[in-house]
Amino acid sequence: MDAPDITAPTALLLVSHSAALAEATEALIRQMTGTRVAIARAAGAGPGGRDLGTDPMAIVAAAESLPAACGAIVVLMDIGSALLSADMARDLMPAGVRARLHLSPAAFVEGALAAALAAAAGLPVERVLAEAENGLAAKRADIAPSAPQPQPKPMPSPATTTATARRAVTLADPAGLHLRPAAAFVTVAAGYDADIRLTANGRSARADSLTALLTLDAAAGATVTIEASGPQAEAAVAALATLLAQAPEAPPPDLPAPPATGPIPVSPGRVAGPLHVVDRAPLAIPDHPAPDRDAARIRLRAAIDATFGRLSAGPPIMAAQATLLHDPALVDAAYAAIQDAGLNEAAAWWRAVLSTHARYGALDAPYLRARGQDVIEVGRAVLQRLLPGTGPRDLAVGPAPCILLVDTLTAAEAASLPASVIGVLDRQGGATSHAAILLRGAGIPALAGVTLDPVPRTVAFDGASGEIVPDPDPATARRFQSPPSPAPAAGPSVLPLRDGTGLELWANVGTVRESLAAAAAGAHGIGLARTEILFLDRPDAPAEAEQAERIAALLAPFRGRPVVVRALDAGADKPIPFLALDPEDNPALGVRGLRALLRRPAFFRTHLRAILRAGGAHDLRIMLPMVTVAEEMRAARGILADACREAGTPIPPLGAMIEVPAAALRIEDLVAETDFFSIGTNDLTQYVMAAERGRQDFAAFADAAHPAVIDLCAHVVRHANGRSVSVCGEAAGDPRAARLLVAAGIRRLSMAATRLGAIRAAFAA
Ligand code: PEP
Ligand code: MG
Repeated sequence: MDAPDITAPTALLLVSHSAALAEATEALIRQMTGTRVAIARAAGAGPGGRDLGTDPMAIVAAAESLPAACGAIVVLMDIGSALLSADMARDLMPAGVRARLHLSPAAFVEGALAAALAAAAGLPVERVLAEAENGLAAKRADIAPSAPQPQPKPMPSPATTTATARRAVTLADPAGLHLRPAAAFVTVAAGYDADIRLTANGRSARADSLTALLTLDAAAGATVTIEASGPQAEAAVAALATLLAQAPEAPPPDLPAPPATGPIPVSPGRVAGPLHVVDRAPLAIPDHPAPDRDAARIRLRAAIDATFGRLSAGPPIMAAQATLLHDPALVDAAYAAIQDAGLNEAAAWWRAVLSTHARYGALDAPYLRARGQDVIEVGRAVLQRLLPGTGPRDLAVGPAPCILLVDTLTAAEAASLPASVIGVLDRQGGATSHAAILLRGAGIPALAGVTLDPVPRTVAFDGASGEIVPDPDPATARRFQSPPSPAPAAGPSVLPLRDGTGLELWANVGTVRESLAAAAAGAHGIGLARTEILFLDRPDAPAEAEQAERIAALLAPFRGRPVVVRALDAGADKPIPFLALDPEDNPALGVRGLRALLRRPAFFRTHLRAILRAGGAHDLRIMLPMVTVAEEMRAARGILADACREAGTPIPPLGAMIEVPAAALRIEDLVAETDFFSIGTNDLTQYVMAAERGRQDFAAFADAAHPAVIDLCAHVVRHANGRSVSVCGEAAGDPRAARLLVAAGIRRLSMAATRLGAIRAAFAA
């Protein structure tokens, strides 16, 4: 017997002569199954599908729009030529899609509903097809009980019908015979050689028809009767009675399943207070027409696909939301707004989102009305991909202390949190995202990958252990209101190691507050000054004087000491609006760091002059982010030489961040152009492990202590030709990873001031 394959659910494709009929059928299905089943529609003909008819090309497009994760596509067709069109479409579509297609002869509405219920229950495609064909059974039984019934499962032959069994049982599930127990009943029943029926409310249903079982309408506490005949009748009845008499272990089906993993600790500290749910401010959507409609359509498609990928990998609620992104009502409307109205992709998409949202809002069923909010949420997620340069959103936080509940706090938002934010719970996020780094630096307790449903009014949580208490009672809240963590204590800046060498402790800073804390905590110097943090929210390029002034303020606490200033590291999760970089499908692999600076040479030179001016009172070193090959270093050196000439200063030591595996593997190629190296384990880990650093579900992959990352660090130390090699990623402040890095030969670690104490303690013995 096949187990239900819940991870590869079957999708439905509705082919109808009427767009209205297909749309209404989908609405009917969604009322029963929510968003668990991916559904595509190919309905109507002519412009906008307004005429009656079917179109093979539309069927191909609809089939292709269904997520590849759906193992099979069951096609339900209405009258006459719908079958002809579907047949033709089958010939026209790519082989990969064709192989997944199953044409069902079932009645359109009843079949679609029965198929959707079976698919939502995770039954295999053969069962989904059987359920679809059986969709008329209940109606037929009620109207003409004597009419012949379809026989999806052969009846046991008289010769082998050796026994009958019968048992009454009280339904234990508090939700009655709903989708999940009914599906389990069908699945278990299929494993026995017996003809089985279930009777309730004076009506009887075959055990192999999910729809028939559901339409028995058996409520919690109802007494139902299981009857079976056949060689395994006794055993079947016993197993099924046990099944129905058992209270469910899992929550009822419409509650979200618990996430596979708990929240991810991001920034330590315990805190309790009122929750402030961030309601995203409307984004500024450009209204210019699309200069090239095909290109606009392609960009929109890419943003939708990327968003689908991210959401469908998330917790169940988000995966369900993701299916909306394949809803033709939404997607086709956006394409039409590009094609027919000439709108740019962002404006077209948002128009389609708002009109779809309005349609949900007009529905009577509260469940469906609530889905309107899902449309807005997925709509925003796509929009953020289309408009990566948009500035920080208005978090609308008041002056009273609060804990933020937010979806993907950006680095820009984290850098400018008001003092009233005492904690952050992010539904997404990861431990090494830039927002996480900033939260740790600011000492704001935070967790990522948080699911809170229902959303409480107040919350208490522990940013180190991941414990969350919704609506805590006063005594619990007090337990979580630990006094603010004291400023990191001062200590030695070089730790003696057993081999006679010393381990230097440097600091990473992005704000003046962090820099003051690092100096007070006795850091040897600044090992990484993240200049971009100063300018994340700037729509226009800051002038040289302003840059110099702000960078100087960052360095001031380390007057006369060594400071490593990293040139602006733009791109990926640190979009810098004034660099006006083109939107990219995959910005982490695109124009970021040094690549971005070399594309803006005039700005780069001004920026370097500002750093030279700001670092005048210090032992200044300049470091370049995201270096890949020696040619980039050579080009940057040329620009630095120009900047030094213009500023009238000597050329300071120039370093390279090692964050790209190619640079690490060929470190010897960079030696001639580079005075020192610093390994950025945050980015190096994401590229070595192919695991986006901001994704909470990849936390297990994104581990800088993985031997693949540590071995690469050891390789860099061995082949750096005597150049100093430090580590300035988050691993430097994590005792477990730091021990491995020191064993790999690293003798300089640069970390947030808040991590210095833990590292001193780890190497104290
Ligand atoms: C790194 O990638 O490890 C690093 C220090 O740079 P950032 O975190 O700012 O990308
Ligand atoms: Mg980096």
